[in-house]
Amino acid sequence: MKLYEFQAKELFAQGGIPIPRGTMVTDPEAAAAAAAEIGRSVVKAQAHAGGRGKAGFIKVADAPAQAQTLAAAMLGETFKGFVISRLLIEEAVDIDQEYYLAITVDRESKSPIMICSAKGGIDIEDVAETDPDAIVSLVIDVAYGPWDFQLRDLAERAKLDPKSYRQFVDIAKKLYDVFIRNDAALAEINPLMVLKDGRMIAADAKFDIDDNALFRHEALLGLKEEAEEDPIEAEAHRQGVTYVKLPGDIGIMGNGAGIVMGTLDMVTREGGAPANFCDIGGGASEEVVRRCLSVVLMNPNVKGVLINVFGGITRGDAVAGGVLAAVSSLNVKVPIVVRMAGTRAEEGLKLLEGSALVPEGNPVEAARKIIALVKGA
Ligand code: GDP
Ligand code: MN
Repeated sequence: MKLYEFQAKELFAQGGIPIPRGTMVTDPEAAAAAAAEIGRSVVKAQAHAGGRGKAGFIKVADAPAQAQTLAAAMLGETFKGFVISRLLIEEAVDIDQEYYLAITVDRESKSPIMICSAKGGIDIEDVAETDPDAIVSLVIDVAYGPWDFQLRDLAERAKLDPKSYRQFVDIAKKLYDVFIRNDAALAEINPLMVLKDGRMIAADAKFDIDDNALFRHEALLGLKEEAEEDPIEAEAHRQGVTYVKLPGDIGIMGNGAGIVMGTLDMVTREGGAPANFCDIGGGASEEVVRRCLSVVLMNPNVKGVLINVFGGITRGDAVAGGVLAAVSSLNVKVPIVVRMAGTRAEEGLKLLEGSALVPEGNPVEAARKIIALVKGA
């Protein structure tokens, strides 16, 4: 679960990491009010994507009226596919240095790894390409956590200003605590700013929590609703449907993550564009199939659906029954191709005869059929 910057900063603040004063707002009037309270401020669009600064979604406002104008301009705009509905109004700061600090999980060492650079700010991706030596790391032993000497060594290797070492070690330790305590997959501060007055603060925040650990964090579950960007994915989650939205127009369903991914590839290879990933699971009942199909059809881009089922535990006739029930109760207007093989596939395909559904035994043919139907539509 990705958190918004303002949510991540709340966790940081709870962990004792210094952050700028700020308020999250959802309308221009509140932005003006917040700016009046804060003084010279930065208006920051909240989205689960980086690079806002470069795209004009982070702007300085000298007065409340300007904050209001900037807020009105940003709200409702789309940034990297996200419609902006929240802004963080934050005190503007006098920047001296912009560093980079992050913790993620290193698959090789199976440990948290801390990554640091003196060349932080908006161009860290370029630094990774042009000057990889400027980015240094520290693998952390979870039995002990990072030792102060390791963190000072990291700061030195990253070529931070020695005047900042003490604050850096303090913040790095606190970031590690927040990372561990919340079962994070990523905690990133970019820029980790040194201000003109020498203070070090987390000026930006990215935080990603391992979904498999969410059950251990009652308090964070409250953020989930708010953090979830896509309304269809949110609804799928509420209904217990495994669904990921994709940019295309062909809805995809299958029984198992492998066959669904294979189907996505097949449709793409045949020239189509999948609109989602949706796994109905093994042994899916009629009710589950109906629920999955209703979620898939929530996406207005969907012009056709391909259902690809290989019956092992899952029975073809049960899937066919579920699809037929769903189609009649959901008032489906788009074409649906059903490919089946395995347990009771013949019975399943027979059930579909005479319906509006297109049965098909061969998976590649099924992909071609739905693509043709969608293109013809
Ligand atoms: P990002 O572009 O989405 O990563 O957003 P950031 O919060 O990192 O902001 C981008 C850049 O805005 C920073 O690297 C700063 O150079 C610049 N900036 C200018 N003034 C401020 C300020 O007062 N606060 C913050 N957070 N950023 C500022
Ligand atoms: Mn940033």
